[in-house]
Amino acid sequence: AEGFNANVAAAKALNAFIVETPEKALEAADAADKALAAGEVKPLSGVPIGMKDLFCTQGVQTTAASHMLEGFVPTYESTVSAKLWDAGAGMLGKLNLDQFAMGSSNETSYFGNVISPWKRDGGDNAALAPGGSSGGSSSAIAARLCPAATGTDTGGSIRQPAAFTGISGIKPTYGRCSRWGIVAFASSLDQAGPMARTVRDNALLLEVMAGFDPKDSTSLDLPVPQWEAGLSSNLKGKTVGIPKEYRPDGLNPEIAALWDQGIAWLKDAGANVVEVSLPHTKYALPTYYIIAPAEASSNLARYDGVRYGQRDLPDGAGLQDMYAATRAAGFGPEVKRRIMIGTYVLSAGFYDAYYTQAQKVRALIARDFDLAFEQCDLLLTPTAPSAAFTLGEKQADPLAMYLNDVFTVPASLAGLPAMSVPGGVDSHGLPLGLQIIGKALDEQTVLNAGLAIE
Ligand code: GLN
Repeated sequence: AEGFNANVAAAKALNAFIVETPEKALEAADAADKALAAGEVKPLSGVPIGMKDLFCTQGVQTTAASHMLEGFVPTYESTVSAKLWDAGAGMLGKLNLDQFAMGSSNETSYFGNVISPWKRDGGDNAALAPGGSSGGSSSAIAARLCPAATGTDTGGSIRQPAAFTGISGIKPTYGRCSRWGIVAFASSLDQAGPMARTVRDNALLLEVMAGFDPKDSTSLDLPVPQWEAGLSSNLKGKTVGIPKEYRPDGLNPEIAALWDQGIAWLKDAGANVVEVSLPHTKYALPTYYIIAPAEASSNLARYDGVRYGQRDLPDGAGLQDMYAATRAAGFGPEVKRRIMIGTYVLSAGFYDAYYTQAQKVRALIARDFDLAFEQCDLLLTPTAPSAAFTLGEKQADPLAMYLNDVFTVPASLAGLPAMSVPGGVDSHGLPLGLQIIGKALDEQTVLNAGLAIE
């Protein structure tokens, strides 16, 4: 019992969960037992799943890791979570994240940062970032607190935390998973996806999570392929593109070595490898950090103290004072920074210079991928420019934090499926991830390449 209690304390110290709902997971396990006795097995019968606390869950507090939504208990269930429960899974709890999914380290959460279960070899014992924004999901899976979790990815929030913690996660093609019931960050980029230890688990989960939903205007009205049944690590006849712009001068040599290893593995699996060019890559980060905040500033306008969660009503205050007081107290510094950037780039005087320009560059970035995919079937790149960093290291410098997204945002801007799989460890024994980017709707090739690397 002592050992067990110590393990529980260690698990809780990761701060991965905002709310725990073990009774729901047990209910699903009981239902699975009964169904099994009756000879009925569902795709996820009895599987306990952690839900990123960005998915609205009926009757269970949904905060987006913000003070603004503290105490908000939705009366409805997100489409993606409803599909998981229909498939027999049970909710273990709501997982911590960066506030409103804005961040790359989980340090912007109102409920405190999440800690990665990994430590650097060599005994410095520093607490490491689990990545973000799906840091609760990555930490919980890596620590074996749950076999699978949901994530959302606007600019890398499934892939980068997966890379930092040695697990896998896939962001499907934009529109595959319904956004209905997911707290909105940047609607033209937001996509849900699974995170799990293996590629096969990801395929199985994604099959359940994906599918047309009339309640999401950008949902793709297409059948969901049987990705799990279609898995094969044989890449004969496939051509892998290596985008040369992802190998800038000064790329961390350990990341370069990981990438070369990944190329060798895909060749061993039968693939042909060619160099390709994505010339507008260098504009992806500034483009993303204009478009995402612009959409966020609009999406977050709904938190006015009237309709959701937090309300601050100073004595004798009028409506404007209530808005101001509520938003001042309800949003953290990173969210306010995004709202300010967003309203600035959308303002009458600067709209053309920033927002319109960013939309044009976004189209060029998407076209780069279209042209590259005339020469190849998938792309292989590193997921992140470094292994997990020490908590606090980048907190004072938002730009350094944004730079961490350099390899993940281009696929988001183009709406393409992209996955991170573990590729090895650095000289400190920390996990490193490889990113596979596929053609629109070709999750199968992405998963197959992931299987070949895994
Ligand atoms: N790190 C990126 C950001 O802060 C991506 C976040 C995400 O994908 N939700 O915007």
